[in-house]
Amino acid sequence: MKGKSLKFRLLIWYGAWLVGGLVFLGVVLYAGLSESLIRALSSTQQQRAARIAETIWAWHQFPTGRTLSEEIDLRFAPRSKEWLFRITDKDGTLIYPTRPASDPLNGFGIALQTGVQKVRLSDGTRVVIGMVSTEQGEWIQAGESLEPVYSRIHESMALFLGVACIFALMAMLGACLLVRRTLAPVEAIAAAAARITSQSLSERLPVPRQRDEIAHLTETLNQMISRLDEAFQLNQRFEVDASHELRTPLTILKGELEQVLRDSRLEPWLQPSLGLLFEEVQRLSHLVESLLTLSRLDFGQTQEEWETVDLSEVAAVTAEQMELLAEDKEITMTCQTPGRAWVSGDRARLKQIVVNLCDNAIKYTNSGGRITISVRSNSENAILEVQDTGMGIPHEAVPHLFERFFRVDRARSRELGGVGIGLSIVKAICQAHRGHVEVESRLGFGSTFRVFLPRTSGQT
Ligand code: ADP
Repeated sequence: MKGKSLKFRLLIWYGAWLVGGLVFLGVVLYAGLSESLIRALSSTQQQRAARIAETIWAWHQFPTGRTLSEEIDLRFAPRSKEWLFRITDKDGTLIYPTRPASDPLNGFGIALQTGVQKVRLSDGTRVVIGMVSTEQGEWIQAGESLEPVYSRIHESMALFLGVACIFALMAMLGACLLVRRTLAPVEAIAAAAARITSQSLSERLPVPRQRDEIAHLTETLNQMISRLDEAFQLNQRFEVDASHELRTPLTILKGELEQVLRDSRLEPWLQPSLGLLFEEVQRLSHLVESLLTLSRLDFGQTQEEWETVDLSEVAAVTAEQMELLAEDKEITMTCQTPGRAWVSGDRARLKQIVVNLCDNAIKYTNSGGRITISVRSNSENAILEVQDTGMGIPHEAVPHLFERFFRVDRARSRELGGVGIGLSIVKAICQAHRGHVEVESRLGFGSTFRVFLPRTSGQT
């Protein structure tokens, strides 16, 4: 049952207990019914045998001129009632019935003792026999078939089984409805919780109207989400503020260093150290800019700045601007934008997606390689594709590619000026535009990054 849903487990447990209870009830009912019916029939046989004993005693005391067999037939007529009678005298000679052939109990060797015995006849019939002895030493055996009793028990049990099946079915149906109704709020809460992401921590779970444990759990979860929201906002505010505060001194530092480096009075021995310093400040500045972009994206984009943008045009213009960088590395860059692809969004951010993907493609493709940028549309999305014939990405690195600061080869990325945030920004922009990004790569053969953004119906 491991891994099965709670609903399934509850129903299985309930069903098992229900069936177990009904089986137990059936067994008790069967045992009780057979015991009481057989006991009643046994006592009837015993009484019948005693009545015959009284008749024999009277026959001895007040002779009527009839034989004992005639007397029994006259008084009890057992043959017409399908009773079984057997009387033997003290020597064991059969008195009734007179011929052994018509004695159904003949040859069964029933022990002569007062009481009741159960016997199975040669035709399989089960009979119960009551036995008494007279003062003169006669043994009277009176019996009756148990078969009608058993068939009555079986009929009762069949009825019980039918009723139990209907009851079990109805009870299971009721349990199904009850479990579904009880767990429906849990499913609604799970679905609502699954929709809550770091971008939508302001949302809350729906609290069921009934003031029960589930409502309590939902309220507790909502309080937890509130605390998470506060912590998250604090963290994001810190990121934005810190990046913002770092940006200005770094820009000043960069400007000043640039000026010093350009100064003809600069001592030549200082140039390499200052050059290295300038590079590092530039990297830092790029990192801070990237972090600020990410923090702003995390903080939630205002859709007020959104416009209807032709992704094909953005890709074509950006590719043209980046072509110089590719040419420097002797990489052929082509852009295929057969038609317009309208999306709703922030033009600058959409451009950033193309820049980051092309920048990576150029960085991780050796000279002589090829980069193809294309934009097409399907019924739902505008699709931007940046394909390169570069070094490719190892299979195990692909799931981590869009994580912050993830780099397949740290040293190489650093050497190329990378900070490990470019793809996180691409993913964050895609998410902010209700789209997503996918990657396909073969180590040593190249990579394809595909961005899917919801289409809009054209310029408004
Ligand atoms: P970086 O600034 O290091 O390029 P990114 O977030 O843009 O950071 O990329 C993360 C890592 O993904 C890179 O360090 C690189 O290892 C790998 N990567 C990204 N794009 C490509 C590509 N086109 N070809 C091969 N590797 C890539």
